[in-house]
Amino acid sequence: MSTSITKVPLVGPAYARRLEKLGIFTVKDLLHHIPSRYDDFSIISKANQLQDGETVTIQGEVLEMKNQFTRRGFVLQKAVIQDDTGTAEALWFNQRFLPQAIHKGDLISLSGKVKNHHLESPVYELMRQGTTLTTVHTGRIIPIYPETAGISSKWLRSRINNVINQIEITEFLPETEMMVEKEAIQKVHFPDTLEQATRAHDRLAFDELLISQLEAMERKSSLQTKTVGNKFKIVEIREKLGMFVKKLPFELTNGQKKAIDEIYKDLARNTQMNRLLQGDVGSGKTVVAALAMLAAYLNGYQSVLMAPTEILANQHYDTLKRLLAPLDINVGLATGSTKNYLGNDVIVGTHALMNINLKKLGLVVIDEQHRFGVEQRAALAAKGINPHVLTMTATPIPRTVALTLYGDLDVSYLFEMPVGRLPIKTWLVSGKKRQAAYNWIAKQQTQTFIICPLIEESESLQTVKSAKVEYEKLQKVIFPNLKLGLIHGRLKPNEKDKVLTSFRDEKLDILVATPVVEVGIDIPTATIMVIEAADRFGLAQLHQLRGRVGRGTKQSYCLLFSDTKTAASRLNYLEKLHNGLQLAEIDLKFRGPGQRFGTAQHGKWDLKIASFDNLELVEKSNIFAKKVLAHPDQFPLLLDNLKQSKMNIANN
Ligand code: ADP
Ligand code: MG
Repeated sequence: MSTSITKVPLVGPAYARRLEKLGIFTVKDLLHHIPSRYDDFSIISKANQLQDGETVTIQGEVLEMKNQFTRRGFVLQKAVIQDDTGTAEALWFNQRFLPQAIHKGDLISLSGKVKNHHLESPVYELMRQGTTLTTVHTGRIIPIYPETAGISSKWLRSRINNVINQIEITEFLPETEMMVEKEAIQKVHFPDTLEQATRAHDRLAFDELLISQLEAMERKSSLQTKTVGNKFKIVEIREKLGMFVKKLPFELTNGQKKAIDEIYKDLARNTQMNRLLQGDVGSGKTVVAALAMLAAYLNGYQSVLMAPTEILANQHYDTLKRLLAPLDINVGLATGSTKNYLGNDVIVGTHALMNINLKKLGLVVIDEQHRFGVEQRAALAAKGINPHVLTMTATPIPRTVALTLYGDLDVSYLFEMPVGRLPIKTWLVSGKKRQAAYNWIAKQQTQTFIICPLIEESESLQTVKSAKVEYEKLQKVIFPNLKLGLIHGRLKPNEKDKVLTSFRDEKLDILVATPVVEVGIDIPTATIMVIEAADRFGLAQLHQLRGRVGRGTKQSYCLLFSDTKTAASRLNYLEKLHNGLQLAEIDLKFRGPGQRFGTAQHGKWDLKIASFDNLELVEKSNIFAKKVLAHPDQFPLLLDNLKQSKMNIANN
């Protein structure tokens, strides 16, 4: 399993470089590159029984193969196949080279959809007479993989098929109701049924969850023994902290008070704090961070706050300056474009913070944890004198999942919203009512966000382009009398800042934005949120977007534009529910188990195979991990594996 991928037949240096892009370095990585979905080509039909609309495989001898030219100048490829029941036709379009690959007399297997009594653009595979007749790309359930330029699913399938029967795996799980690992690896790629694919996937996911939990548990025990340079004095500064709280323009919620207490208890110990602060959008995490940073300052320590984007860093910088400058605390900023941090007590920044050296660093605050890897957190935590670490996130994570994902963290939850917040009135708006909605918005004396659809998963040029088109249409045709601004991820940081500042200063009425740009933006004067193509998002995601409004005491509104009727029953939940955790759980119900294979899960939270969405499996592996730690002598192979996987991480 640990053999380098370059030792696999037909993998030269060029392929090895491409495979690196998929994170594949060893045979094990290749075998753990699991399908994102499957095509079911397992129904083998007789040539004389083709039914329109079915997806089938036919196998037989090629009687004829040729290019056919149509009157309009297109080229079709036509094959006639014969089996023991008769003949059938297959057609392809514009694949001139095909007659060079498929010849009269070949034994062939073809899989595809039947249209007008012929197979249309089927996948083909030649079967050599005399050798084995098992097929790899047709006639069975076929794996489709995450691909990259120059690496197709067909190529991956062939390479995987080539090595899969040669691997040796010693089972490390004792008697268990799960599929054994070796079978799981084989069946996740080449299952006999989709149900079997799910069971194979579950076994591999279980292993991954188990390893990540064991690692987290180990990190936790090693952190607890790490002493900080000095424990913070809290009792002695209580009065000053209390005065700060009194001067806030609002009363802290009970959740905020409790979280701050928990944090202060951690800070007063001489072991490193590692705490996760989880609170729904708008629950007021920033002020909790400010109180922790104030405690660091009063103890003579510097602290940093790391944000995932420059926009958010700038916003936190403004907020913290507003809160802390009256106490003569110098707040600095360190981002890609601004570096003013020398001699400051509190420094806000992006990952640019990783590169600066701070002598008296006592506390690190990280906003929106999931954007940063566990390793980065570890790197920051190792700076200076092992500073305390507070991580904040709005991503709703059920408790069991938090334990697994952040097994090495203690968790504080902000359950309640600040008083006086009104639930955001949320409406689903169909195409018919779109114009009426625009008219309504134009009449409100307030500021509005309009979120454009995300065309592709990341913020591609295409997404930006469509946002620009939408912005121009809205400005010229729909809201000619209002002032609109546009913000997207491809703007330079200072350009983004300019747009955002004009919106914050109420010089713009409407801010048109792509979905990725807005996480965490705090502009309390904006009270309407419009989300285009709402059906493309999960409920939890929509809830996060909606959380950009409703941050003051004024009534706020969220309009979900969607023309997809079938999405209504799902989106309706947003009209009724206003709790991120509940919505995240409903998201899980609407996603069928098959979709667990979806690529959307990949790369999330550093997991390759498993998804934290699968609560049952998370729980099962959690129970097992505890058993392993309680009786390590019973699981020598597993602990070996664990060491191995760590060595691999170190080597990569
Ligand atoms: P998030 O948890 O999403 O990061 P923020 O920290 O940005 O939320 O807070 C959202 C808004 O709520 C801010 O404008 C902040 O000043 C305000 N806020 C925070 N705590 C309270 C509170 N206890 N009462 C009223 N408003 C609060
Ligand atoms: Mg925030």
